[in-house]
Amino acid sequence: MANPSTCWRKFPANNTSPVVAQKPNPATFHLNTLITKPRAYSCKAYSATAAKSPLAATTIPRREPGPSDVQIDIQYCGVCHSDLHFARNEWNFTQYPAVPGHEIIGRVTAIGGAVKKFKVGDTVGVGCLVDSCRTCPDCRAGLEQFCPDMTMTYGSADKHLGGGTLGGYAQGIVVAEEFVLRIPANLNPAATAPLLCAGITTYSPLRHWKVGPGQKVGIVGLGGLGHMGVKFARAFGAQVVLFTTSPGKVADGRRLGAHEVVISTDEAQMTAHAGSLDFILDAVSATHDLNAYLNLLKRDGNLVLVGAPEKPLPVSAFPLIMRRRSFSGSLIGGLPETQEMLDFCGQHNITSDIEMIRMDQINEAYERMLKSDVKYRFVIDMASLK
Ligand SMILES: [Zn+2]
Ligand SMILES: [Zn+2]
Repeated sequence: MANPSTCWRKFPANNTSPVVAQKPNPATFHLNTLITKPRAYSCKAYSATAAKSPLAATTIPRREPGPSDVQIDIQYCGVCHSDLHFARNEWNFTQYPAVPGHEIIGRVTAIGGAVKKFKVGDTVGVGCLVDSCRTCPDCRAGLEQFCPDMTMTYGSADKHLGGGTLGGYAQGIVVAEEFVLRIPANLNPAATAPLLCAGITTYSPLRHWKVGPGQKVGIVGLGGLGHMGVKFARAFGAQVVLFTTSPGKVADGRRLGAHEVVISTDEAQMTAHAGSLDFILDAVSATHDLNAYLNLLKRDGNLVLVGAPEKPLPVSAFPLIMRRRSFSGSLIGGLPETQEMLDFCGQHNITSDIEMIRMDQINEAYERMLKSDVKYRFVIDMASLK
């Protein structure tokens, strides 16, 4: 079962593809370069140079920090399924060289003169976003993930250096203060990295739909996303039912916090839960039968997709109309909610279950991720790149 986050999904459908957006206007390009292009320094990284080439060591430019920027020495970077899709151009918008990575934890090594929230030496995080327009209704609501002009950590147009933004498989990164997150001191920094994408992707919908005590909540799929969904739903006080196709994951599901684990291919086990769930978080990215899950919801229950299956999934009208059920989706979270999630994790000692790898093991890790052979997130020890 694949477990990609959905954080890149809106890009392929967006008319302002990075390729178009970055074509320089010949009349202004040189002027623009001379006047506004900041100074850059070079930094070791791992990149893909083509869809079919493995990732390999390279050197990339990073801008020198401006007044509002934070310069970060990256210590750990989680490996999201989106990284693999991006490196292999599976969403058809990748510009090469491509440096994935948007679950970044590191230390502040320098700050611009106007930076107020951070000081040198702080442990900080960077997730899927590094900028947005800051003025649209979504940005004003703290929902930068829906900003039409958001800048993704990798694969967006780089407004400072040109080309595409380059992610966290690197020694360092420079990010505007507003898009840098505080990391609670009590959390293991490596195991905190996946919170920046897998964590917020599951936390946000559970919060938005007010999952809590007295509710019975289903989590579908036990991968990078699902295992965080189980932990959060449990921490929010809900009765948690995990749905998995793998009998081998039952014990782990319980250990992670599920009160009950249902093997979803067993019809009798599924039927036993019909009409009983208040909310279902569906973290499966493979093709699967949504109607079977919609039928498990109570009247007015809601099923939210956070996985991103490649092909459309058929939804029958009857499971929806007969019990006034809803079917929704959710995409990562905005900056205020991501900070709230990290603080919540600090208070409740929640992190991801991880397997640490060296940077040069990334290609092997991708192959294992495709087979769901990871419990439950790879994290790169970036010291291995130095
Ligand atoms: Zn991700
Ligand atoms: Zn905006």
